[in-house]
Amino acid sequence: MYFPKVIFIVLFCFAVMLFSPAEAGFSFRCHVNGAGLLSAPRAEDDFYLYVNYDWMRAHPLQRGVDEVSPFSLADDGMASEAIDNETLNIINGYFDDIKAVYARRIMASDMFSEGAKSAAIQKLDALTLRIGLPGEGHNAPDAAKKTGAYYDYLKNEVLLNPALLVSPFFNPATNSDDRETNLGSIGVILAHEISHSFDVHGGNYDPSGNMVKWYTEDDDNASMERLAVIADFMSKYSLDDDENVNGCKKAYESFADMRALDCLTRIVMRGSPSEEESREGLRRLFVSYAWTSRQMVSDRFISEHREALHALDNVRVNAALSSNDMFYYVYDVKIGDGMYVRKRERPRVW
Ligand SMILES: [Zn+2]
Repeated sequence: MYFPKVIFIVLFCFAVMLFSPAEAGFSFRCHVNGAGLLSAPRAEDDFYLYVNYDWMRAHPLQRGVDEVSPFSLADDGMASEAIDNETLNIINGYFDDIKAVYARRIMASDMFSEGAKSAAIQKLDALTLRIGLPGEGHNAPDAAKKTGAYYDYLKNEVLLNPALLVSPFFNPATNSDDRETNLGSIGVILAHEISHSFDVHGGNYDPSGNMVKWYTEDDDNASMERLAVIADFMSKYSLDDDENVNGCKKAYESFADMRALDCLTRIVMRGSPSEEESREGLRRLFVSYAWTSRQMVSDRFISEHREALHALDNVRVNAALSSNDMFYYVYDVKIGDGMYVRKRERPRVW
């Protein structure tokens, strides 16, 4: 099994936790020559670090996580009532675009039975977005209060922290001429959470959040086959110098990351009138994804994170990109490049 069997799992995702106690200092583990990457023309070894190198170098010591977590920003007065209509319209538009792409992918995929396809579409139709903070009656553990978004299986609802609706996660002012940068951040976050509604765990809950299993045995098996490939894929990443990622632990959440990125690349390509604009839009999408996933962590955090369901953000970003054919296209990634994975070894998410 790749995830614990509990009544519900609250999956808290994409937190930008700039966490590094002063006594631990800068201990982010990198296995590449950062100076070399700065002059690299493309993402040869580590896209995450390539994008974030300057920022990481400039922040050798970080404040505690409470000072910078999205939820503490929200607690400081960024309330959902303060969100203007323009922002709401744009975010709801992203939400609908993502659901529409997922619906098409589900219908075209051979991994769902016919019954599961129609159940998944019904769930997507009923899925709601709520911008706010977890309150009474929400299925969020305390830990989730430090995160940006989660999918609630029992409500079929994505809860999004209003503090994520500010730059660099989202900028309504640039939406008309740089939508892709928004999509690479808030878009990926939404798409990740939405994908949980129809994944192997979401398959246990109906559109109203009742525990009614709609995955058949064949649907379970098709998901497990893909998760096994992802587990193997993830286990090739190293956590630090002497230990690789626990791929089985990370497979479920990594599946959501890969589906989210796949979904957003399709939205960008559909909205681009020419190949050149498509390539440029995808480039901005990928850079935004890495930039807003930046993370500074302590040795203790790395150690405590080994058994977590999410990989560290540098692994999440690099793994999702290496699984995505469009990344190879945009950066001309070739055999011999650090992030190159043979096509037949890239996980299939549909
Ligand atoms: Zn998740």
